[in-house]
Amino acid sequence: MHPDVLITGAGPTGLTLACELARRGVPALLVERAPALFPGSRGKGLQPRTLEIFEDLGVLAEIRAAGRRYPAMLPWTDGRPGEPFALTPTATPTEQVPHPETWMVPQWRTQEILYDRLRELGGDVRFGAELTGFTQDDTGVTAEITGIGTVTARYLVAADGGRSTVRRTLGIPMIGETVDPRPSLVADLRLTGLDREHWHVFPQAPGGPLALCPMPGTDDFQLYAQYEDGEPDTSPDGIRAVVAARTHLGPDAVTEIRWASDFRPRAALAERFRTGRVLLAGDAAHVHSPAGGQGLNTSVQDAYNLGWKLAHLLRHGGDAELLLDSYQAERLPVAADVLDISTSIHRAGPLAGQPGTDRRRAQRGKDTDQLAVGYRGGPLSVDHREPVREDALQAGDRAPDARLPDGTRLFDALRGTHATLVTTATQPPAAPAGVRALRHDAYGPATGHPTLYLIRPDGYLGLVTRNAADLAPYLAILGLSD
Ligand SMILES: Cc1cc2nc3c(=O)[nH]c(=O)nc-3n(C[C@H](O)[C@H](O)[C@H](O)COP(=O)(O)OP(=O)(O)OC[C@H]3O[C@@H](n4cnc5c(N)ncnc54)[C@H](O)[C@@H]3O)c2cc1C
Repeated sequence: MHPDVLITGAGPTGLTLACELARRGVPALLVERAPALFPGSRGKGLQPRTLEIFEDLGVLAEIRAAGRRYPAMLPWTDGRPGEPFALTPTATPTEQVPHPETWMVPQWRTQEILYDRLRELGGDVRFGAELTGFTQDDTGVTAEITGIGTVTARYLVAADGGRSTVRRTLGIPMIGETVDPRPSLVADLRLTGLDREHWHVFPQAPGGPLALCPMPGTDDFQLYAQYEDGEPDTSPDGIRAVVAARTHLGPDAVTEIRWASDFRPRAALAERFRTGRVLLAGDAAHVHSPAGGQGLNTSVQDAYNLGWKLAHLLRHGGDAELLLDSYQAERLPVAADVLDISTSIHRAGPLAGQPGTDRRRAQRGKDTDQLAVGYRGGPLSVDHREPVREDALQAGDRAPDARLPDGTRLFDALRGTHATLVTTATQPPAAPAGVRALRHDAYGPATGHPTLYLIRPDGYLGLVTRNAADLAPYLAILGLSD
């Protein structure tokens, strides 16, 4: 039991990271204390940027097949339906943004798809294996795992959720606040009496707002209810009672309850994302309100940011300190922004139509699609052009998709584990192993001095320069020198 990377927790974060490492041939051990994958639908909204990542990971077709566009919200008052309205804007794909709309898939299904992909890539999950403690020194981490014993690894990644054992063992505080003092109930259930084309909301229900959203690919609805007073009762009788009290349906309309949980929305950020050889990712590093559908997406993107960096320092001799430091430098500010967005959407009223709801702020769009997330000014974002217009594509930005002259997409060329050099030069500089070179003027006119755009394996512009001599030192940081 000597993997290079030990990952605790097979939620969306741990599964994505394990896929990223497996497809780069990095030996990793993914341990999960539960006997099986998480069964609930809770994180159901996949944002456009996450869809791009899933395309790169090779799971987009399965994710598309498992989901649907967001249904319109249908507000009910006193047993009467009101005017349906869209929570997420409709949008048409463009050459730069191939997946502009949020896609709804129950979290358990997303996890199953990632798990299948992991196994296809030769990885797996050790279920029933809980990390109970660990120590670290300059060379690695030694962890105790129930059912396995002592495991030594060069790095440990905490993907063990909001109550992270790893984070607590390190003594890293979470800084934040309670977003809402009212507790909430979330459950997956089956019921009769509501159509499956709408997300049914009961904003003025006695005792607090309630929503029932049909889950694609299933006969389930996801129930979400806030409690003005008292605590949620997660028992089957308690769930039937709240549905009967707050909707026009009777208790017998609920025919089956598959999963239920209660929680108090919080917004909190770990003070740091790394101590030595241990890194925090996903909910272990940040927790937020479900409003705005950001938690799972931010978590998947943490893993996507970290995976290639670990692989490059372990397998290619990349600059370990710079690559690891860049993880916190890039992801902590992103998580802080996401916390603000989800708190603001939550406080505007997560259930549209609720008294006092600012419907515009409750709606989703550019603030939540995560396409504008980028790492300008970060330690791996190097732009040698002076001056650069603020609105120009710069180092640190997401590399937009583009149509290549042969009709294929730039994203097709980016797909995989390599970095990509896009250049307007007629003679692209020689690219070392692990870098694919493309002559293309998608990002700037072919006229004038040719520009080099080095796209990192995670699809962000790392280096932008007009001087080919800048390339080798930058690639050396990533461990991509010949
Ligand atoms: C009620 C609720 C509703 C939500 N709704 C939404 C939503 O609508 N949209 C959205 O985007 N997000 C939503 N989220 C957030 C989303 O579910 C999380 O952000 C996402 O699951 C985080 O993924 P993760 O892999 O980091 O953590 P988790 O999914 O929490 O996974 C952590 C895993 O680690 C395992 N584990 C814990 N400790 C150990 C240990 N010591 N050893 C081994 N394994 C361990 C756990 O069993 C678990 O499987 C919601 C969350 C909650 C709680």
